[in-house]
Parts: sequence; C-alpha cells; structure tokens
Amino acid sequence: MQNNIQEDLKLFNKLANDFLKEEKLKPLSNYIKPEDLYDKIDLALNDYPAIDDDFKKTLHQLILSTPKSSSKYFFNQLFGGRHSKGILGDLLAVLLNNSMATYKISGPQVGVEKEIIKKVCDLIGYNNKPGGTFPTGGSMSNFMSLIIARDNKNKEIINKGFKDNLIAYTSENAHYSMAKSASFSGLGKENVRYIKCNEYGQMDFKLLESQIKNDLDNNLVPFYINATAGTTVLCAFDNIEEISKISKKHNLWLHVDGAFGGAVIFTDKYKSLVQGVEKSDSFCFNAHKTLGVPLSTSVLVVNDVKCLETSFGNKASYLYQTHDNDYNLGQTSFECGRRNNALKLWTMWKSIGTRGISQIINHEFDLADFARDYVVNNDNYKLYSFENSLSICFNYKKYDPIDLCSKLYENNKVMVGFGYFNKQCFIRLVTINGENSKKDILNFFKTLEEFVESNKDLIKKIK
Ligand SMILES: *Cc1c(COP(=O)(O)O)cnc(C)c1O
Repeated sequence: MQNNIQEDLKLFNKLANDFLKEEKLKPLSNYIKPEDLYDKIDLALNDYPAIDDDFKKTLHQLILSTPKSSSKYFFNQLFGGRHSKGILGDLLAVLLNNSMATYKISGPQVGVEKEIIKKVCDLIGYNNKPGGTFPTGGSMSNFMSLIIARDNKNKEIINKGFKDNLIAYTSENAHYSMAKSASFSGLGKENVRYIKCNEYGQMDFKLLESQIKNDLDNNLVPFYINATAGTTVLCAFDNIEEISKISKKHNLWLHVDGAFGGAVIFTDKYKSLVQGVEKSDSFCFNAHKTLGVPLSTSVLVVNDVKCLETSFGNKASYLYQTHDNDYNLGQTSFECGRRNNALKLWTMWKSIGTRGISQIINHEFDLADFARDYVVNNDNYKLYSFENSLSICFNYKKYDPIDLCSKLYENNKVMVGFGYFNKQCFIRLVTINGENSKKDILNFFKTLEEFVESNKDLIKKIK
C-alpha cells in the first residue's frame, strides 16, 4: 500500500460519507462487549502489510462500530453534535501539521490563537495585560491554573519545591481533575478543601471563608480558590461575585473552571450566571463541550499574561531562535510540540460570528427548559436539578437509574449517563448539542419510556 495523500483523501471522503449516512440511518452503533472486540474487528497489527481491500474493509467496519457521539441519541457526555465549520478547521489543522510553539513554525496560526484569546479576554472583561493558551482540555486548564497560582504565591517553589503548607479550596462538586492537579503539582490531595454546597449545588461561600480563617489560624497558607461555572453533574454556577470578595480579602488566586458552563460569556441572556468573572485571575471554558467544536478545544485565559510566562516559560536555544516571545506561544504553554487546537474554533467563530455562538448557547438553554418542563409536568418523573442549567437530572417511575442507563446502552436505544448529588442517584440528560431540536429531546424521553414499558420486569427498581 502506498503513502499517497491524494488517494487517501479520496478514501477519507468515501468513509466520511458512509459514516454520515449510517449516522442518520442507525444513530447507535451495535454494542460490542469488550471481551468480544478482537473477535469482531480485525484489530491485530502484523509483521506484513494488510491487503489493500482488507485494510479498507476493516477501517469501514471500525468507524461504523464506534459510538456515534454526534448522533441524536448521544447524551452521555458533555460534548455531542458537531459544527461543520469546526470540523473543517480541524481537518485543515491536521493537514497543515504545525506546532504552536513558535512563530517560525506556525506563522499566521499564531495570530489565529492570539485573536481568540484576545476576544475571550474582552468578553470576560480582563484588562490587566491579559493573555492565555490552549491547553489539551479542561483538566489541563485547571492544572495549569493551579501551577500559576502556586508560583504566584511563591516564585521560589519553581526552583526549590514546597516549604509552606499551601491550601487550595474548591467545591465538593468540583471536577475530579482538581484532585489530580493537586497531586501532580506537588500540593497533595489532602491539601485541597472541598467546601460544602448549598441545596442548588453551589459552593457555600460563608463556609469557604470560615474554612480559610480556620486554616490561617492553624498557620497554613491558603493560596487558591477554584470556583466552578457549571458543575459537571448539575451544571450549577458558583457565586463568583461573592467568592471574588473573599479571594481579594485574603489575597488568594481565583480560578473559574468554566469547562462546562463558561461559554455563557458569549450570551447577554445568560452571562449573569458568571457575574463577577472579570474579578477572577484565570478562567477556562471548553469549546468542545457546548459549542460543537471537535475535542479538545479548551481555552485558558489569565488577567496578567506575565504569570503564564513565569510558570511555563523556559530557555531552549534549539527551539526559540526567532521572534519575540509574544509570538512564540511555547513560552506560555505546557507542551513543546503542540497541536493547533485554535483553528477549529476560529473557523467556526469567523463563519457564524459572536452572535452565532451566542445563539447556540441560548438554544441549548431553551432545550434545557423544554426538557425540564417535560419532567416537571409528567407525574412519572422526578426532577433533581434546577433552573439556569444545561443538566436535567431525573428519575423515571421507580426504576434504578444505573440499571436503566446500562440497559438503554446495551440494547442500542440511547446513550445517557447517571450522576449523584446529595447521595441521590439520577439520570443526567444534557442539552449540550446545539444541533438538537425540541423534537429530538422529546424523542429521547419517548425512547426511554417505550423501552421501559416493553422491558418492565427486566429493569431493577429503587428500593
Ligand atoms: C469536563 C469538565 C472538566 C474537564 O475537561 P476535559 O476537557 O474533559 O479535561 C473540568 N471541569 C468541569 C467543570 C468539567 O465539566
């Protein structure tokens, strides 16, 4: 088989067309048990090349057997659907294959990344020499924010490691990357305080302040607060305005983890959910979650770009040979060779404008209202989530949500997950696919109801 890009682009087009057709006809790929995987698909790598025809057939089978995350039956993750202009940009980025480390390697792509960062900082209201970068995802954005905050507290940590007993604060409903970041950064998982939430899943800021005081009294060194804009399960928005007062008063870094809900900065209608965000020190959002841009597209911005340079800049004479550091983005990023994750967001943003992005977010909140109304107005359902959220958490009749989600998946009906809040378990429907309509949401509920009615005795009940 030849290494021939023209031929392979033809093959790509054919596979892409087959896949898109199949996605409509058969939105769920047949579930394959992990233990059957190698029997069903020829995944083995051999000493000798595959026969051309076998290679194509296997590739075809492989893509059609993969879960279809853009179909109308996929509600399992905080991403779903696709924006075609995002796909276009990402395909081009693959073809161009630059690395975002220096201007010399990526040229105008540096401008693409910088333009997005500038616009995002404007939308937030950062005005103290702001800047940012494109980490590999929300987890990495959170990790980088913790490192910046650590070094901002004490620059010596970069060279000498920890001396003081630093303490970070987040909500008990924060994303699990917070714990991992604490471990990776050398802070230690036990030095994160998980602050209790109110009945709506928002961090209780009074408890936050009393915990900080308590730690200060014990000669510990508070340095970082991680507030969440859209918690992973409930999509609850912490009160940034109140939390920012506490961070200012005690001189702590305030990071806003908007990986899920942070894209509300694009819409006047919902921006108030992150009121006070301009008073934070860093902020991130994932365009691959609510905006339909391919994985991963996470934007991390800081109010003062110097702190990114302090934590992530380093000398490397074999790499940085031309241009100012303003244009050598490797001086503010985690990786050295770094994929161009900006272009796909830029192509989409350029093509639909900020207004188009705002319409996508508004539409997703409309879908959430529609789904919530459906649940509230139907006695067979019980609602566990709240307004101004893209998560609709519910249980149907007395069916066990864990068993119901698994059976819906294994029987190729619909992909949806479950979550917990205050020890209650429930199904979590997320309206993060801007391509969906109310009809698609209604179809989700009908699919679930019909499946339950015809499998009543097979699904476990809650005690
Ligand atoms: C999804 C999510 C993350 C992690 O983002 P990844 O891109 O999956 O690493 C972080 N925080 C919150 C609140 C999230 O919902």
